[in-house]
Amino acid sequence: DGGKRPDYLAGLNPEQTEAVETLEGPVLVLAGAGTGKTRVLTTRIAHILNTGRAFPSQILAVTFTNKAAREMKERIALLVGGAVEGMPWLGTFHSIGVKLLRRHGELVGLRSDFTILDTDDVVRLIKQLIQAEGLDDKRWPAKQFAGMIDTWKNKGLGPADIPEGDARAFANGRGRDLYFAYQARLTTLNACDFGDLLMHPIAIFRRNPDLLKEYHGRFRYILVDEYQDTNTAQYMWLRLLAQRAKGEPQNVCCVGDDDQSIYGWRGAEVDNILRFEKDFPGAKVIKLERNYRSTEHILGAAAHLIAHNEGRLGKTLFTDRSDPDDVKVQVHASWDSEEEARAIGEEIEQLQRGKHLLNDMAILVRASFQMREFEDRFVTLGLNYRVIGGPRFYERLEIRDAMAYFRLVAQASDDLAFERIINTPKRGLGDTTVRALHDYARARDIPMLAAAADIIETDELKPKARKALFDVIQSFRRWQELLENTPHTELAEQILEESGYTDMWKNDKSAEAPGRLENLKELIRSMESFESMRGFLEHVSLVMDAETNENLDAVSIMTLHSAKGLEFDTVFLPGWEEGLFPHQRSLDESGRAGLEEERRLAYVGITRAKHRCHIWFVSNRRIHGLWQSTLPSRFLDELPITHVEVAEMEQSYGGYGRGGYGQSSFDKAEPFANSYSTPGWKRAQANKTDATRDNWGTRSGHAVERIGYGESGPKGRTIEGE
Ligand code: ATP
Ligand code: MG
Repeated sequence: DGGKRPDYLAGLNPEQTEAVETLEGPVLVLAGAGTGKTRVLTTRIAHILNTGRAFPSQILAVTFTNKAAREMKERIALLVGGAVEGMPWLGTFHSIGVKLLRRHGELVGLRSDFTILDTDDVVRLIKQLIQAEGLDDKRWPAKQFAGMIDTWKNKGLGPADIPEGDARAFANGRGRDLYFAYQARLTTLNACDFGDLLMHPIAIFRRNPDLLKEYHGRFRYILVDEYQDTNTAQYMWLRLLAQRAKGEPQNVCCVGDDDQSIYGWRGAEVDNILRFEKDFPGAKVIKLERNYRSTEHILGAAAHLIAHNEGRLGKTLFTDRSDPDDVKVQVHASWDSEEEARAIGEEIEQLQRGKHLLNDMAILVRASFQMREFEDRFVTLGLNYRVIGGPRFYERLEIRDAMAYFRLVAQASDDLAFERIINTPKRGLGDTTVRALHDYARARDIPMLAAAADIIETDELKPKARKALFDVIQSFRRWQELLENTPHTELAEQILEESGYTDMWKNDKSAEAPGRLENLKELIRSMESFESMRGFLEHVSLVMDAETNENLDAVSIMTLHSAKGLEFDTVFLPGWEEGLFPHQRSLDESGRAGLEEERRLAYVGITRAKHRCHIWFVSNRRIHGLWQSTLPSRFLDELPITHVEVAEMEQSYGGYGRGGYGQSSFDKAEPFANSYSTPGWKRAQANKTDATRDNWGTRSGHAVERIGYGESGPKGRTIEGE
């Protein structure tokens, strides 16, 4: 370009510069965490715009989340000095899919004002189809079939493509027909589901070569971030747009890290990385090895851990970002999750006193139920927090439902609670009944629950509804009587069981159901520290009232999955225990592959940290009110002693003496001989942990030794299935 090199190129290292400046031809940047992959993409776009190679509307850029897309847009604007007139094609695969469909939907039979169905809509629709086929929808649950369709769509399989065997697995071989019927129904409704946002564009481009050609002309540059987590359908979509006839410019740049592929459970295919060089011959593969994010200790710990995975391409990583003041990765033990939250809260307050911003700190959990304890603790401390990538604990659907039951038991006039749960789970008390009840209650100025008790004495309702309502009222009467004399946690469990609410989620085959059940258990656990149901309900209304102001300095709480691509000065990683992390479910369902994906998740977690990384494990979890010992995560054994230290236990436990624990909390260990069950590999792991325990034990003095997590026995109960 001749003249002065633009500022935005100045700070890049040679490999990054190459990745930014190689604008012609396919480029694959394959590099570890924090090496500047996202920065390369952003700078590349700035460079394309700045050198006048394309208009913003001629660049197709794919990010993994909408948030990442917004951030990228802002960064580009900064780099080119705010001159970007929008970037209409910067977004997630799905959001770009919507845009394409609004323009060309008629080619697959959709009008431009089509609606996008959410999961609930989809399930309802499938249920109707199953019933219309004369099938038993209890035997063949709609949720399960919705999941199957989703999996097929992630693989890019339409009804005509699905293998016979797969189709037969559902409804005695009628799965395929149902899938056809489902798609036909969507078209009639002028609607599509999430998977169609990828599938329809693929079909459109395949059937209309001229249109595809038009888009080849439009998209001069194509860029994809987090490439390791694309699924097959996304890859097909991308290949259609990016693969060009011989001699035509093929300017596609994908960046990714095979070690950070963490969405295999949702159909992501890390093999797409390997396919890239095959599908785009002559691709330039660029490796970035310098990490700009983390200290040597953090990087060393992460690299050592991930080296335990077999299925990886392998790469080098180094950092210059080291300082004599750098601290090692700290491993802490706590008695239980309540103390864990307390200890992390203290650590945060201490950092805050040292003038660190809360914005620079994050707590990354493996399972969303873990958030509850932190949210409660932070509300007590008056520490601002925000939950990223999902609702706050008490705002979740299943928690609100459960709370509605408890509220109505404690306060019979709570009509909002009544309306929320009267037909959840489904009892045949639909809108008509609720309306009748509403009118009846209004006319007499009484609460709906009281109205319900009255109305069943009349013949205003159909016999079926009357019977269902009678049963519910009986239940509520029983629970109300128990309110004063039964321990409230016991009552809460009883309510969720007897109402059929827990069963509703147990019978639910959707991917979220197990997480919801975990959350319900966590809800019961959260009640234990209160004297009564009413005390607990009051507490929750206070927590719900806590403002989360976007502009406030606040600690971020999120799952490891949603932390991808982000970075924080200080990262807290709680709950490193066998069964939770690695998560039992992923081990059970996917064996070794599942374990490796969990390990990648651990790698993602550690590499989010710039300066401080704290890992926590607890030695006991309360399950159904019973104490159970837990084993520290095997991932702890896989951390290198050179970069990790076990924090002084006295410190993390000592603080609680003043909380009224009096004696050392270790004394509490005695009565709880229950331990983790250890069949098969778990037992092997337990032995291994015993061996390394000495290792940690000697380094940290007495403390770890005394926790006694190693006592595993055949009588023990397992956390799984809790
Ligand atoms: P991840 O794999 O976690 O998504 P990444 O490879 O996308 O990481 P970036 O987020 O782009 O990495 O960069 C990590 C950090 O390093 C960012 O704060 C970024 O600004 C900084 N960084 C990247 N390259 C450089 C550079 N050449 N000079 C200074 N800082 C840099
Ligand atoms: Mg990135």
